[in-house]
Amino acid sequence: MDSSADPRLADLHARIADSRDALIALTQDLIRIPTLNPPGENYGAICEYLDRRLGAAGFDTHLIRAHDTPGDCDRYPRWNIVARRDGRRAGDCVHFNSHTDVVDVGLGWTRDPFGGELVDGRIYGRGACDMKGGLAASIIAAECFIAAFPDFSGAIEISGTADEESGGYGGVAYLAKQGYFSPRKVQHVIIPEPLNKDRVCLGHRGGWWAEIETFGEIAHGSMPFLGDCAVRHMGAVLNAFEADLFPAMAQRRTDMPVVPEGARSSTMNINSIHGGQAEKLADSTALPSHCVPDSCRIVIDRRFLVEEPLDQVRGEVRGILDGLAESRPNFEYALRELNHVLPSMTDRNAPVAATVARAIERVMGQPAEFVASPGTYDQKHIDRIGKLKNCVAYGPGILELAHKPDEWIGVDDMMDSVTVMALSLVDLLSPAQT
Ligand SMILES: [Zn+2]
Repeated sequence: MDSSADPRLADLHARIADSRDALIALTQDLIRIPTLNPPGENYGAICEYLDRRLGAAGFDTHLIRAHDTPGDCDRYPRWNIVARRDGRRAGDCVHFNSHTDVVDVGLGWTRDPFGGELVDGRIYGRGACDMKGGLAASIIAAECFIAAFPDFSGAIEISGTADEESGGYGGVAYLAKQGYFSPRKVQHVIIPEPLNKDRVCLGHRGGWWAEIETFGEIAHGSMPFLGDCAVRHMGAVLNAFEADLFPAMAQRRTDMPVVPEGARSSTMNINSIHGGQAEKLADSTALPSHCVPDSCRIVIDRRFLVEEPLDQVRGEVRGILDGLAESRPNFEYALRELNHVLPSMTDRNAPVAATVARAIERVMGQPAEFVASPGTYDQKHIDRIGKLKNCVAYGPGILELAHKPDEWIGVDDMMDSVTVMALSLVDLLSPAQT
């Protein structure tokens, strides 16, 4: 539409400018509800807060508990909220999905992690950037749009969902199974994760998590030749990974625009290693007994590219282990898959991606950058379970601040994102009337 002549657009910009204090207050309120995951605290409280807020803005709200999902119990119920506001005419539905959970605070903070302090244009707190600032921006954007374009067509949905930081099974995955992300109901999804205000995130790499165990035989530590050391067998596994797997992975490059640059190759993290006796308790003064370890376990976190089939990823690791079983005396292993997530990638010409990119260019004065995320987020469930492909992540907040001490979100960045989100709504829900 040629919006420059539309007086409603000037009204929209004025309303957004007037909403700065409301945006700050909303972000602070959300940060002050400590929704730590694990264990999954205060999901009910944050959903009730959003229920009041969105109900007052004319949204129909539904609170949905994800019964029998991981971690759901009466002490830590997995509450989610889906709020919907219908327009005056039929049309597409634009859905903003934000997770309400935040990760552990960790050490090294100089600010109150749940204080929501505003200092020099930054709001501090756990979840400020990932992603309560994005949730607040989407609510303010929707409110300003509805006020300036009361005759919009279609519908706006805003959801606040649980457990994204632990896989999203009690949040978006559960809602997708209930049909909340069916393409008949929802046509465009924007996830306001902190990917920076000038970037559209099209998707993410895949992940494969597995535990590998090597076996040995316990014996007296003074006569290790009478036993068989499981830790040395695991050393051989790690050597083989260093010699063969890591160099091979580093060679592979994806066409997905993954950021940062290092994540454009396949990667693997050795997440943990445990062998031999259990670690002693912190307050114990006991000395270890002298034993040859009969078990050693590692957990691997393998991130793979859209070009790599999952079976190839699995087969590559199993091939190395089988090779050791043939070449190394007494080598026995077990491989247990813990979880996997397939890559997800929305086409950059998909309607929601192109619309958000256009809005970014209008607000920032330069073309949007298309990126993909090194780690997974809830897009996987919207794609695989919901079968909805028209989904991107777009939100304020600097990706590198997520999960860090003194996490913050910039108010100016949030204001720019509010404008981008609101202009996206204009394009998707208010086609030119004249
Ligand atoms: Zn997040």
